[in-house]
Amino acid sequence: MTAPDLALTRVHGTLHALQVPIPYPMKTVTVLIDTGGPVTLIDTALDTPEARGAIEDGLAALGLHWPDVERVIITHHHPDHYGLAGVVEERSGAAVQMLDVEIGRGERYWHLWEEWLPGHTKHMQDHGLPRELVETLGQESRRTRARVHPASRVEPLREGQMVPLAGSEWEVLWLPGHADGHLGLWNEAESLLIAGDAILPRISPNVGLYAYTRPDPLGDYLQTLGKLEALNPARAVVGHHGPVMEGVQARARQLRDHHHERLDFIRAEAARQPRHAYDLSLAMFPRDLNTAGRRFALAETLAHAEHLHLLGQLARTWQGEAWVYHG
Ligand SMILES: [Zn+2]
Ligand SMILES: [Zn+2]
Repeated sequence: MTAPDLALTRVHGTLHALQVPIPYPMKTVTVLIDTGGPVTLIDTALDTPEARGAIEDGLAALGLHWPDVERVIITHHHPDHYGLAGVVEERSGAAVQMLDVEIGRGERYWHLWEEWLPGHTKHMQDHGLPRELVETLGQESRRTRARVHPASRVEPLREGQMVPLAGSEWEVLWLPGHADGHLGLWNEAESLLIAGDAILPRISPNVGLYAYTRPDPLGDYLQTLGKLEALNPARAVVGHHGPVMEGVQARARQLRDHHHERLDFIRAEAARQPRHAYDLSLAMFPRDLNTAGRRFALAETLAHAEHLHLLGQLARTWQGEAWVYHG
């Protein structure tokens, strides 16, 4: 049965975009279904009954069932994109594929979650996260982990590799920043990019420094924005608020300006009064946020502060219990 409000649109040829509900402020994530060639899903969703049902309905609307899925390509390891990967693998026997960089980092996190959590928490405390938030952070991580069903085996894709999709060959792109091994798929003839969360039309993709990420995610992301600007796709399929956006080049410039404004803000704030990243995050994001929001705010602030530190524009000193940034 097809749900009456099924949000399924044809993007190109046999490639369809399905809007799958997620319990996050973005409300939906884009799951692509390619019915031509090997039947392929690009991204899944968080493992919830609603998402399972929505994908099942989307497949059914295209005359497909779980066992027909032969391949799953995941743009990046975030729970709203990867959560159901293991479920699809079990139900269909499909090969799950991700960029090689992402397998060794983000994807591994879901398997080593319990071992990594103390390091993850310590990293945030070393940057000023208050003790009372540490406990809720653990609870929230546990809740998220319960909605992620990791794949038992993931095949690596490499930057520059060509993959067949919707009757043509697409180039695998590495678009780091929002996630270390964020993958894009580029169809030059159609000037069409499958972008995941590397660029989004309405929100600035979170760029955060965590315990196990590459050392300079913001530096990575600024390079990714340059890459997207040069690529200048006519259309991009995006993870949220899509499924399709135009004006990628202009949006990439806008996001770069936005990050430069934040860098200026952090540089000035830390020069005015030496502070740890958590205090800087309260200045940069002064509004009321829940624990998840405060964690994103801290990681985002830290990505900016650490970028400035690596450029030699901010100094960082260990003071008793936490790192302090100063001019
Ligand atoms: Zn994401
Ligand atoms: Zn996302």
